[in-house]
Amino acid sequence: MMLAVSEIFYSLQGEGEFIGTPSVFVRLGGCNLRCEGFGVRGSLGSREFIGCDSIYAAHYAFAKEWRSFETSALLIKEIKSLGKHLFDIIITGGEPSLHFSNPILLQTMEYFLQKGHRICVESNGSVPFVFDSILKQLYFTLSVKLSNSGEPISKRLKIPVIQSIIDNAKNVVFKFVLNATMCQEAKALQEIKALLASLRLKGNQIFLMPQGTTPHELDTNIQAIYPLCLQEGFCLSDRLHIRIWGDKRGF
Ligand code: SF4
Repeated sequence: MMLAVSEIFYSLQGEGEFIGTPSVFVRLGGCNLRCEGFGVRGSLGSREFIGCDSIYAAHYAFAKEWRSFETSALLIKEIKSLGKHLFDIIITGGEPSLHFSNPILLQTMEYFLQKGHRICVESNGSVPFVFDSILKQLYFTLSVKLSNSGEPISKRLKIPVIQSIIDNAKNVVFKFVLNATMCQEAKALQEIKALLASLRLKGNQIFLMPQGTTPHELDTNIQAIYPLCLQEGFCLSDRLHIRIWGDKRGF
């Protein structure tokens, strides 16, 4: 048994409800989707790939770059060596749900929950989680993929899975990444509203977040997004890490 980790690092949470919080990010390898519609190019040697901005964690062709943790003790030691004071732990990917039956991950989460750390999971919400006593203590950010991901609706949108997460997790927020063109076309907003209307929400916050890998791109897209937030009662999330570190990996 091993746990595939694309990268692990200490930084500030750059997005969403806990923006600015010191956090250790554990980015797990592998994803059930490709999201080629996002059109981000990645290369590995002479091979080129198209996908999302986490393609190096999502696509299994990059697995040779991932680290293998063979025990929870090793992962716990690494997280403790990185984090300072009462940091959050962010389990992200790729799609982390693919690893939630792995005892190395479960034992690590149990250890840090007992120490009083908040653990947040970033998921696309298309793979079921089995909510035991550990998972019920987790904070979820669901970034459900829209049609612009290029994924078929049958793969990316699983309403019963999303509802189960809403019903069982400690807290669930939604996060949708938009750019100015998507705001003008209104299709994305229609998809978001249709998704939310098909769920039994429990006062969950909905975040709209600007696409962008530079502060200038963020600023441009925020100008298009904030009117939608006011109009629909959604929250606006910035991407603080882009403003501080640009699109460098490991921050
Ligand atoms: S679901 Fe997320 S990690 Fe997976 S390919 Fe799509 S954007 Fe990338």
